[in-house]
Amino acid sequence: MVSSELVTDRRQRPLQVLRLSLTARCNLACSYCQPDHREVSGLLSQSQRLALIEACCRLGVRSLRLTGGEPLLSDQLEPLLEAIRLRRQQPGDPLSQLEEVALTSNGLLLDQARAERLRRAGLDRITLSLDGLDAGVVAAMAGLPEVGEAGSRALAAVREAIVVAREVGFDPRLGALKLNSVIQRGRNEDQLLPLAAFARDQGLELRLIEFMDVGHRNGWSGDQVMPAAEMLRQLQAVWPLEPLGRPAGGTARRWRYRDGAGVVAMIASVSEPFCSDCNRARITADGQLFTCLFASTGLNLRPWLQPHPDAESLVVALRDHWSARIDRYSEERSLQVQTDPERADMAYLGG
Ligand code: SAM
Ligand code: SF4
Repeated sequence: MVSSELVTDRRQRPLQVLRLSLTARCNLACSYCQPDHREVSGLLSQSQRLALIEACCRLGVRSLRLTGGEPLLSDQLEPLLEAIRLRRQQPGDPLSQLEEVALTSNGLLLDQARAERLRRAGLDRITLSLDGLDAGVVAAMAGLPEVGEAGSRALAAVREAIVVAREVGFDPRLGALKLNSVIQRGRNEDQLLPLAAFARDQGLELRLIEFMDVGHRNGWSGDQVMPAAEMLRQLQAVWPLEPLGRPAGGTARRWRYRDGAGVVAMIASVSEPFCSDCNRARITADGQLFTCLFASTGLNLRPWLQPHPDAESLVVALRDHWSARIDRYSEERSLQVQTDPERADMAYLGG
C-alpha cells in the first residue's frame, strides 16, 4: 500500500492535479501569453522533477499535465515520461496512483516520430493549441510575421500534428486528443465557428478559452474577453447543444452537439470562475509552486530539492503550503476585490 496523506486547503479543496512546466521557453510568442525566449535560470533536474511528482502523488495528485512554455522544446520530456511510466507500473510506488499523464503543446514540433516516441514513453493524452484556421489570424495570434508564409506553415504543422497524434493512438473519442483555442474579442472571434466546424469534422473536443488576465505583459482588458455565454450563443445558433455540465474540479463546462457530432467545451475562468473546487497545483520549470494562476509569487521549493531532493520534508513543505491555501482570485475579480497587479506570466506558469 502506498503511504499517502491527502491534503485539503482552508476552503476544503483537495490537491488532485499537478501541472509541471518543463521549460519557460517557447517557439511562438502568442500575444495573450508573451513568453520569454530565454530559459529560466535554475531549471529543475530530472530527479528533482520526479521528487516533486512523487511528493504531490503522496498528497493526492492523480493527474499530471506536462506543460511549458513549449514542452516539446525540452529534450527531457521523453526521458521524464519514460521514468514516470516505469514507476507507474510499480505497485506501492506513489506514482502508481497517477490515473493520467497529459501534455499541452502548440504542436509545431509534433511530427510522426516524436508522436510515436511520446506514446511509447507512456503519454496518455495530448491537448494541442490552435487559435484559428486562417493563416493570417494564426500568425497574428501566435506572434509570427503576418506577411509571408509563417502563419500558413504553423497552421499546416498543427493540422499535421493532429493527424499524426491520432495515427499513433491518441484517440479523440477517448479524450486522448483535444484542441484548445483562446478566443479574444477583436482578434480572432471570427474564428470561433470555423474552429468548431473543424473540430466537429475531426471528432475532436474543442475547448474554447476566455482570454485571461494572467501575467502583466499581455495588455489584458475586460473588453477583450469574449464571455463563454456569448460563444455558446453563437454555437447554438448553428448547432443545437445539450449541456453536460462541469465535472467537480474540472476547468471546462461541456456541451454535446445534439446531432451527435461530439462535444464542445468552454473554459470560462473570467466570466464564470471555478475557484470553489480548484484542485490544481502548478510548478514552474525552476521549481516555484503556484496554487493560483493569477498569483504574483510562488513558494520556492528549491530548498527542499538541493543539493538532493529530501522526500519527507518536501511532502511536509507542500502539505503545509497547500493546507494554508486560501486564494480564489477569479472569484475576487468578479467581486471587484483589489488584487496584486504584478502577476506571474502564463508561459512561466504553464496554463
Ligand atoms: N505552449 C503550450 C501551448 O500553447 O499549448 C503549452 C503552454 S500554454 C501556456 C497552455 C495553454 O494556455 C494554451 O492552450 C494557451 O492557449 C493558454 N493560454 C496562454 N495564455 C493565455 C491567456 N492569457 N488566456 C487564456 N489562455 C491562455
Ligand atoms: Fe508559447 Fe503556448 Fe504561450 Fe503560445 S500559449 S506563447 S505556444 S507557451
